[in-house]
Amino acid sequence: MIMFLISSKRQPRGKWGLGRIQSTSGEQASVSLSNGNVMNVARTELLPANPDILEGVDDLIQLSYLNEPSVLHNLQFRYSQDLIYSKAGPILIALNPFKDVEIYGNEYVSAYRKKSLDSPHVYAMVDAAYNEMIGEEVNQSIIISGESGSGKTETAKIAMQYLAALGGGSCGIENEVLQTNVVLEAFGNAKTSRNDNSSRFGKLIEIHFSATGKMCGAKIQTFLLEKSRVVQLADGERSYHVFYQLCAGSSPDLKERLNLRAASEYKYLNQSNCMTIDGVDDAKKFHKLKKALDVVQMCIEDQEWVFKLLTAILWLGNISFLENDNENHIEVVNDEAVTSAALLMGCSSQELMTVLSTHKIQAGKDTITKTLTLRQAIDARDALAKFIYANLFDWLLEQVNKSLEVGKRRTGRSISILDIYGFESFQKNSFEQFCINYANERLQQHFNRHLFKLEQQDYEIDGVDWTKVDFEDNQECLDLYEKKPLGLLSLLDEESNFPRATDLTLANKLRQHLQSNSCFKGEWGRGFSVSHYAGEVMYDTNGFLEKNRDPMPSDSIQLLSSCSCELLRSFTKTLNQSQKQSNSPHLGALDSQKQSVGTKFKGQLFKLMNQLESTTPHFIRCIKPNAKQLPGIYDEELVLQQLKCCGVLEVVRISRAGYPTRMTHQEFARRYEFLLYEANTSQDPLSVSVAVLQQFNIPPEMYQVGFTKLYLRTGQVGALEDKRKQV
Ligand code: ATP
Ligand code: MG
Repeated sequence: MIMFLISSKRQPRGKWGLGRIQSTSGEQASVSLSNGNVMNVARTELLPANPDILEGVDDLIQLSYLNEPSVLHNLQFRYSQDLIYSKAGPILIALNPFKDVEIYGNEYVSAYRKKSLDSPHVYAMVDAAYNEMIGEEVNQSIIISGESGSGKTETAKIAMQYLAALGGGSCGIENEVLQTNVVLEAFGNAKTSRNDNSSRFGKLIEIHFSATGKMCGAKIQTFLLEKSRVVQLADGERSYHVFYQLCAGSSPDLKERLNLRAASEYKYLNQSNCMTIDGVDDAKKFHKLKKALDVVQMCIEDQEWVFKLLTAILWLGNISFLENDNENHIEVVNDEAVTSAALLMGCSSQELMTVLSTHKIQAGKDTITKTLTLRQAIDARDALAKFIYANLFDWLLEQVNKSLEVGKRRTGRSISILDIYGFESFQKNSFEQFCINYANERLQQHFNRHLFKLEQQDYEIDGVDWTKVDFEDNQECLDLYEKKPLGLLSLLDEESNFPRATDLTLANKLRQHLQSNSCFKGEWGRGFSVSHYAGEVMYDTNGFLEKNRDPMPSDSIQLLSSCSCELLRSFTKTLNQSQKQSNSPHLGALDSQKQSVGTKFKGQLFKLMNQLESTTPHFIRCIKPNAKQLPGIYDEELVLQQLKCCGVLEVVRISRAGYPTRMTHQEFARRYEFLLYEANTSQDPLSVSVAVLQQFNIPPEMYQVGFTKLYLRTGQVGALEDKRKQV
């Protein structure tokens, strides 16, 4: 009897189970479960399961029945045996094991290199990319996506380790490239509720190779660092690792030079009641960081400047304000926080206090000084801290890039690895999700086009009639974001230019202009929804304008440009003159000279897509099997939702629409020839295949005969397998 999967509302959250149909009557079927129980299930809730020979196949596309529960079951079956990697056609699926699985290191590198191992693995994918780069001289890219905590950064490191090992391992440039991870993680990663080491920025590393196939340099690009984390933390989360590392690991000498205290004494760090991470020694990490900074050739003086500015940021956070009787009057409390911050930045305490409590307005020839409100003063202080941190991050990246520079050795052979946040959909979605999901729409389009091309090629090469499979196209959603002047980003910028605009006027404006796009839906109040390829997301415009403007008061910029710290001065150089002297209302409208965050991100994304366009892409989708960050737990619903979001189910759907089962004529003949009633006189596998198909009356629309392979529609192998068992 055929196995069936059961979905029953009686089972929690509509889980699927395996069973066998015993009998049917009307719309009901009586099904026996593996534990011996028998239950009645509506026939509409039954889906066919795959035959035993397909249990745990390493490519989902090989499944005869490609329904969602079969896909989930297959991945779970593999996961339970620590087979964390699987394929879905061209995609590598990586399930986070949340434990050490011993499948990495030199032994495995050489096994994959020699092809003595060929099961799905990051190594196998990177090896294929490497070979294509060398053999066909086409640049390659490895695009890793997945939700927070799914393993993207670890996967990227595993890929880099493989490439480093090809060049002989941990010396010279290979080591330098690997050590950049330590630096960037210290400054760009933090503990969040979902991942103890969450990257708060997107990253593309382009690794260059010499004519002999050895690493010879690299270039790193980053996207959208989460600046708000420097000044504001959710409960249980931490700021960037480097702050805690510095506080825990710096020598008494350094501490004294910086006037640095324990992490717990700084408001920017202690506000969330989370100072440490289980199993992580911040002091040790600090020593590793310093070593890594040495490796990327940052001189001791520069390192000291970095630590100075980090400490200045911490002291800025401790600056407090006194509200006078008159609510609109505030004063900066002149304490150790002010003096320490000013000293480290290289300005006078007085200058710093003035910038944090007043605002100069040019009125004709006169300059009027206005006192800030408490809210404005706090915002000015936080804006300064965020500005310094974000610029420090960019500067650091610049230094790292200088040390990795390919320079004259540029060869035109490269592999780029992209580690970027996947699609996000929460209860509450804000500007960050709005940008992240936009990036994912762009990547999805890239993915679709590539996949489409691959499918087509495969059929054409084998002489199979290519009937166009219907591909999901997300152009409409991209238009919704990008169209000028009536797209989400343009309208957001336009509204950001109005000093009096509010989150509500923004929502109204979007509703007014975008109703005609089928991917847009205006919601009540501040909300609006976008139909993304991975599902509908409702955004709350609360904070959109402010985050898009990302204001930095001109008074603060002027202060920085007069500080004795050269690094701080250099941060203001990129801002143009007019902005430094701009007369925009304090933290008000978008400065006409400054690009908004949304527009800047769009520009970066276009550049990224251009770069990827000229490469052969390889896709890795990381999946988080449970939200507890624990090994051995496989939460079906969570996995299913991620498979949807990262396009795996879409690939499966496309395959289902085509001919997912592909067997060479040899394979097919070997397996099914004995079923023939009359022995086939021909030894030719192709004619044996055709004879088998005809004998079992497989309708012609259910298969295609290619030059080398037989292409079967979903379910056909299942039927043949049943015949095989009956014999
Ligand atoms: P984020 O988007 O928050 O940056 P991420 O997708 O980059 O998340 P990682 O930081 O790579 O996630 O992984 C989270 C944790 O999962 C790691 O710190 C590690 O403990 C574990 N992990 C991920 N991949 C592996 C692996 N292949 N082997 C063992 N552990 C892993
Ligand atoms: Mg990460």
